[in-house]
Amino acid sequence: MATEVYPRCALCPVKACENHGAAANGEPPSLEKTPPFCVMKLMPEVFPASLEEYDKPETADFAKKASLQEAECYEKTPDGVRTRLPRIEELIQFARKCGYKTLGLAHCGGLAEEARLLTGILEKNGFKVVSVMCKAGGIPKERIGVPSECKIADPDEWESMCNPIAQAMVLNKAKVDLAVMLGLCIGHDTLFIKHCERPLTVLAVKDRVLGHNPLAALYTSGSYYRRLANGIE
Ligand code: SF4
Repeated sequence: MATEVYPRCALCPVKACENHGAAANGEPPSLEKTPPFCVMKLMPEVFPASLEEYDKPETADFAKKASLQEAECYEKTPDGVRTRLPRIEELIQFARKCGYKTLGLAHCGGLAEEARLLTGILEKNGFKVVSVMCKAGGIPKERIGVPSECKIADPDEWESMCNPIAQAMVLNKAKVDLAVMLGLCIGHDTLFIKHCERPLTVLAVKDRVLGHNPLAALYTSGSYYRRLANGIE
């Protein structure tokens, strides 16, 4: 039976696309040592097509600013390259670079305090902040078919549904320059992304157990979270 071959950069041992050591205007990366699943072999047509998109004036400007911002997150020191900006500072710098005035915050009710703190910081840095919490609208979970026993607290009490579609609609209607997601749940974030029509970035994703740092489970997947690597039920 033929083995399915599909892009798997995550498993690539060579990362030839980084073209380390080549001169800036030198030869492009060689595919010689790349694995059979290398996307540059499997889908070579994607890359020129992507460049056509980058050549569109609005995208060109945005992409350049994003890469300039990336560079500003590092500094060259006598000891080598060091990182220097936390993501919140990066967000402020990038939003300024883009000339954004109004930011839209789509946040989870579980991160209401973080949303309040973030709003204060962003306002102090000159932005207008439109914010909308996931429970806005106050629609009960029954409306989307959630059975009582699947409520988080008391099955007999009102529990408002998370409404990421409404969050997106509010930020669309407010015509925010940049929507910022803060701690939406998995699935709710998917719906928000699908319905948000404004430029969108993520400040943080939700991880209830690990202080909104899901990668902590990866870093400890050889020890405390070995069950993940072993395959969970
Ligand atoms: S593009 Fe090719 S060389 Fe680069 S990481 Fe993916 S598989 Fe490896």
